[in-house]
Amino acid sequence: MSDGEKHGFFIKAIDERHFEIGVPVRREPWSLIPENFVRVFCNVLGERVRQEELLKAGKFNWSCANVHYKRPLSGEMSTIAPESKLAVLAEEIGEVSRIVCDSLPDEGVLDRKKLREELVQVAAVCVAWCEALDAEATP
Ligand SMILES: [Mg+2]
Repeated sequence: MSDGEKHGFFIKAIDERHFEIGVPVRREPWSLIPENFVRVFCNVLGERVRQEELLKAGKFNWSCANVHYKRPLSGEMSTIAPESKLAVLAEEIGEVSRIVCDSLPDEGVLDRKKLREELVQVAAVCVAWCEALDAEATP
């Protein structure tokens, strides 16, 4: 799929989703959205899917998109505290910090590819957390 096709696909998906969930569609001048924007959001979407796959595979007990989780030993349902989600986000930001700090003049060259990957992971955690906030707000 070319970047142009991805752009069209992304815009169509937003339009259809707005319609589906009953959110009034604000007709944007979609053509003004740069393709780099779409590429980044596609990467963030891919990272969100990867997080859900890891969750399903049992790599962790909850993701920031969850409101509750099942305690492994007792089986009781618990609310995931905001400070727990903050720890996940801070860990991801810490990885960004590490890449930047490692590139300080005395240390070496900035690994832009790795930095971008980590920034996408930060964004995906933020998206997941927003999903949980929306889920909590939904009656
Ligand atoms: Mg990371």
